[in-house]
Amino acid sequence: MSAPEPDKDCIFCKIAVGEIPAEIVHATELSVAFRDVNPQAPVHVLVVPRDHYENAAEVAHWAPAAASDMIATARDIAEKEGLDDGYRMVFNTGPAAGQTVFHAHLHLLGGRSLEWPPG
Ligand code: IMP
Repeated sequence: MSAPEPDKDCIFCKIAVGEIPAEIVHATELSVAFRDVNPQAPVHVLVVPRDHYENAAEVAHWAPAAASDMIATARDIAEKEGLDDGYRMVFNTGPAAGQTVFHAHLHLLGGRSLEWPPG
């Protein structure tokens, strides 16, 4: 499959190409990471693939290198942010799971103790 077309209405596509501002913390050839505007932990970063896929499962299926890059990027950021005691990676997938932006994204959360099970 060739790279999907950017979605002209997608906020994360726009962040990925620099069309709208975000606090970028890391970027690779395949992914971009920026701080969540509504942080749920002292460190709350979103890692998104540059190409538009609806959710993480679609990235893993169609672009496994990008899925792997997103996870490795999250690990690098966690290290840089000093999350030595642990951190959480979350992929909300579908409305019932709380997904509100339908461009795949990994939530990297850390800097406080995180409950389990999540709400
Ligand atoms: P979801 O609920 O798993 O889809 O997560 C979407 C996340 O995107 C939420 O945590 C929002 O706070 C975050 N978000 C939405 N718009 C922006 C933005 O423009 N910049 C950074 N984060 C955003």
